[in-house]
Amino acid sequence: MAFSEKIVNLKKEVLKESESLFRHVEEVAEQNTLKVLDAMRECKVSDAHFNTTSGYAYDDIGRQKLDELYARIFGAERALVRTQFVSGTHALATVLFGILRPGDELVSLTGKPYDTMQTVIGYDNPCPGSLKEFGIKYAELPMLEGKVNIAGIKDIVKPETKLVLIQRSRGYSMRSPLSIADIRAITSEVHRVKADCICFVDNCYGEFVETEEPTQAGADIMAGSLIKNPGGGIAPTGGYIAGRDKLVELASYRLTSPGMGDELGASLANNRLLFQGLFLAPHTVAQAIKGAIFAAGIFAKLGYKTLPLPGEVRGDIIQAIELGSAEKLIAFCGGIQKYSPVDSFAAPEPWDMPGYADKVIMAAGTFVQGASIEFSADGPLRAPYNVYLQGGLTFEHALAGVMGAAEAVAEIG
Ligand SMILES: *Cc1c(COP(=O)(O)O)cnc(C)c1O
Repeated sequence: MAFSEKIVNLKKEVLKESESLFRHVEEVAEQNTLKVLDAMRECKVSDAHFNTTSGYAYDDIGRQKLDELYARIFGAERALVRTQFVSGTHALATVLFGILRPGDELVSLTGKPYDTMQTVIGYDNPCPGSLKEFGIKYAELPMLEGKVNIAGIKDIVKPETKLVLIQRSRGYSMRSPLSIADIRAITSEVHRVKADCICFVDNCYGEFVETEEPTQAGADIMAGSLIKNPGGGIAPTGGYIAGRDKLVELASYRLTSPGMGDELGASLANNRLLFQGLFLAPHTVAQAIKGAIFAAGIFAKLGYKTLPLPGEVRGDIIQAIELGSAEKLIAFCGGIQKYSPVDSFAAPEPWDMPGYADKVIMAAGTFVQGASIEFSADGPLRAPYNVYLQGGLTFEHALAGVMGAAEAVAEIG
């Protein structure tokens, strides 16, 4: 595994130019580590919370402690952290189905939602069981030059608008992610227009990127995936919901059943993995962001359009790179796969993934299947052939993978 002299020299240049950016990322990680540590101390996390439970699992103290810990760290009244959520989409859908009732309107304030959320909502991509079938109305406010159209909120939020969906990360699009300051401005405008409108943030890929979370910036409820940021690369599966007491309770009735809510649900996976992953998450997120900054630096120097630009402020862990052709997208993912600790011998191919409209290619040589807090890259097979790179349990691995991908793309010419 030797890299060409050209790419090694490029690496040195980019690392030198990124020093102050890296320092900022490390400062955020330090503050977030203290935030998590303080909460763990205040909640008196103990060895006894790491046990597995079975059956109904009433009074599962590990499950209860994890809910309490997440709520405290995210500045929320209540949280629901479960390996029973099969993915981030499941946690997000649980919030929507738990809160919305026939005749209510859902408004997306960040344009077209993430691919799998379109399936849940059921407008462009109809699917049996979608919100549309249950009589939930839907409208969206398109993004304006990559930003939320805050001035347009007063016209789109109507008396029947029960909930607005605010997607923090870019998803498979070239818009900017939202900063916590952006989220504060959006939620404050929504609440000014309609005080009881529920601001729901899709927080996927955003946790621990800044020192505050959406629930500390006006969001009423948020949800995300444990095989992304807050699982720290250790959680084996799962999702979380955090927010106002009553709203999280409603979601819990959808996760299990009305009346049961959050009082059942066995901890089949060792709870230690969720506690330890959360403890590591601020550091892991910092590793991933440093990898993303490095990738932006290298590919910008090679002449590609990157979003964000190498020096731009980050709102999530994603680095998008516009590769311009299907061949380069496939080569990029092949390069990432080759430098993966697991399945390095596999060649990723585009396939029809459940919940997605276009074929998607994914490089994921990860310990946890599909975990995108681990170093991974993916993108839909559609022009302009953007690759979305994210994660990295260690910065050193991200360096190798990015260089591998750069060389694989260069071979295409
Ligand atoms: C990852 C992600 C989701 C959820 O995807 P899952 O694969 O179901 O966890 C939802 N929204 C956004 C913006 C995402 O990045």
